[in-house]
Amino acid sequence: MFLGLPFVTLRGQSALRFDVGSLKLHVLGATLWMDEFFVVLLATLAVSFVFLFVTFVWGRVWCGWSCPQTILGDLTQALASERARKRRRPARLALAWGTVAMVSAVFSAATLWYFVTPWEFLGRLVEGSLGPVLGWSWAVLGVTLFLDLGFVRGSFCATTCPYAKLQGVLFDRATLVVAYDERRDAECIDCLACVRVCPTGIDIRDGLQAECIACAQCVDACAPILAKFGKPTLVDYFFGAPGDRPRLLRPVVLALGAASILAVGGTVVAAVHAGRESLDLTASFSSRFVPRMGPDGRVVNAYDVALENRGRQKLTLTLALAPVQGRATVSPDRVELAPGEHRKVFLVASASGLGAGPVVQALLTATGPGGDTVRAQVPMFLPRTP
Ligand code: SF4
Ligand code: SF4
Repeated sequence: MFLGLPFVTLRGQSALRFDVGSLKLHVLGATLWMDEFFVVLLATLAVSFVFLFVTFVWGRVWCGWSCPQTILGDLTQALASERARKRRRPARLALAWGTVAMVSAVFSAATLWYFVTPWEFLGRLVEGSLGPVLGWSWAVLGVTLFLDLGFVRGSFCATTCPYAKLQGVLFDRATLVVAYDERRDAECIDCLACVRVCPTGIDIRDGLQAECIACAQCVDACAPILAKFGKPTLVDYFFGAPGDRPRLLRPVVLALGAASILAVGGTVVAAVHAGRESLDLTASFSSRFVPRMGPDGRVVNAYDVALENRGRQKLTLTLALAPVQGRATVSPDRVELAPGEHRKVFLVASASGLGAGPVVQALLTATGPGGDTVRAQVPMFLPRTP
């Protein structure tokens, strides 16, 4: 999913990408502008509640089945296996290191595809024009991942991961865990298969430990060995301690479930109602132009106007200025904006009948084809002499 998602496009944009150039987040066909990022904050809160709920019920399913550290560790398992052999085979070892290098290069590139499209990245790579920002980002990510997969691997979970350190408060006595069934201790033949396969290097027979990522490799190791004796595995999944009755409807689970539903619902409602104006206008008096009076007695002012088309359609805007007293014309009075375009316009306004001055307020409007109008108030200065 991580490698494939950047190639999926919805409504002409990546299914999930933060576009660095325009500071916009494209997510599942919608586009969030920077001033709508409160939705991302709410979504983060919702994901946190769901994460807590899942952890309390099913334990470390994230660690064992979804975490990139675990999955990339599995993809490069050949390296750990070859190193564990008493007599290493140089050709196999070289192949395993090559796999680590390839996985590091591909997955670090894929991380960048969530910021620039994979088509742009690959096109620039082929042309040799990746540039310093993309090039260095790829190099730093790739080397970091290579060192991690080559030398750190599962020990990251046991020593560094902050989520692992939180496990003490994210579990209770009924959470799903991988555990050794001590009631059948006499059946263990002490073959150490469960210890050898453990990526974090622990012995599950010593009881539940913070280092256990619930990958269940020890279950897979023990099951075929005990099967030879016609017995079920000694290491297995249990809700709580082996022999306990599963208790799913616990107060903490119900509270976290309710909080998750509320947070997800709140995020959806906020996202639906975050509907921004498709047009944005800001205007200020231009310091580059001194207000003046023409020979015909008309007062001339100028403004720096910033227009932004936040929609997906091309817009032709009509600009107009209405002073509280008198009449005014502007130049230019029509502006075309491509979808997503931000344009600065130097607007000259000529007015008559403004009164005695020295300043009159005026309303600048930009009107789109559907009648959508945005407004900004600006001052008109009246010079005393031509
Ligand atoms: S004890 Fe078993 S489930 Fe836990 S990390 Fe080791 S192999 Fe995985
Ligand atoms: S794999 Fe099973 S039988 Fe072998 S040491 Fe581990 S728990 Fe005992």
